[in-house]
Amino acid sequence: MVVNVQLEPLLIEGLDIRRPLIMAGPCSAESEEQVMQTAKEVAAAGVKIFRAGIWKPRTRPNAFEGVGSVGLPWLQQVKKETGMLVATEVANVKHVYEALKYGVDIIWIGARTSANPFAVQEIADSLKGVRIPVFVKNPINPDVDLWIGAIERINQAGITSMAAIHRGFSSYDKTIFRNAPHWQVPIELRRRIPELPIITDPSHICGNRDLIFDISQKAMDLGFEGLIIETHIDPDKAWSDAKQQVTPRSLKEILDRLIMRDPEIDADLMLTLAGLRDKIDKFDDRLINLMEERMKVAEDIGHYKKENNITIFQNKRWDDMLRSRIILGNKKGLSEDFINRVFRAIHQESINKQTSIMNND
Ligand code: PEP
Ligand code: MN
Repeated sequence: MVVNVQLEPLLIEGLDIRRPLIMAGPCSAESEEQVMQTAKEVAAAGVKIFRAGIWKPRTRPNAFEGVGSVGLPWLQQVKKETGMLVATEVANVKHVYEALKYGVDIIWIGARTSANPFAVQEIADSLKGVRIPVFVKNPINPDVDLWIGAIERINQAGITSMAAIHRGFSSYDKTIFRNAPHWQVPIELRRRIPELPIITDPSHICGNRDLIFDISQKAMDLGFEGLIIETHIDPDKAWSDAKQQVTPRSLKEILDRLIMRDPEIDADLMLTLAGLRDKIDKFDDRLINLMEERMKVAEDIGHYKKENNITIFQNKRWDDMLRSRIILGNKKGLSEDFINRVFRAIHQESINKQTSIMNND
């Protein structure tokens, strides 16, 4: 399907935007003091765009839902004292009016809102005739068309200064990520709208501080344009997303360590590589699931052997098995040594499982 967007290069008044475009600041504005202290240190780390959530979409009621409009003058103060541009999330028309009234420079649409076309359309309608950069986070589900749809709605309201924020996707399975990055989704977005800058949000992808550098570097290796990193003066005491926020000092360390590659040369290469790696990840997933199923059968055999008083290890069976796997492997171009090592490891794991059945049941 053709994507219908008309974008201008992301030019934000008074700001020379070069790759990487860095946005940093707390998940939530909590108090004037927390905002100002964080802002001063973030600005000292070289950041030009300050982020702070004023209205916070929370999963359950009764959690801290943001300070609301009282925090907007604090952002004005940040602009005045540090010269940084300020950005916040808007989720409805009231937020848009308030943010515009207080001179917020950039607004973004959060992941839960991007997933809702009615909400995005209302925000788009309220932006007609307004000149402000709007960044659109990916919807919480990995649906590139829904993401594109949200971008189109805002763009068709006349907003031409835009970027996409890749913040990962939620899933039922617990993984090391809070929101799985599914790099193939922003890569597909890049293919469909090449001129749209992509900013990765490692904080919401990781959900903790430890992986932020790796995800940031990967985003840069893919040729994405920027990063939005949650930064707090005292992360452990943050009122929201405490585990994933970093201090301004670690932010600086992360930024200093980043290796920037030339997107002209590397992006295509990295995109191809990422696509291939994605395939490898899927194969490994299947391999592990297959091994799990295989071990379950080995366990059934273990129970059967126990009930019938048969020894775990039958040499002839093992010898036949290994030989037939080597012949099959050979036909598929896999070396004898490789098959030998893989099947010895698998067989050993089966024996361990059966041994524990014999000993414990
Ligand atoms: C945020 O940036 O603090 C936020 C709430 O993000 P998301 O919409 O990605 O969950
Ligand atoms: Mn957050």
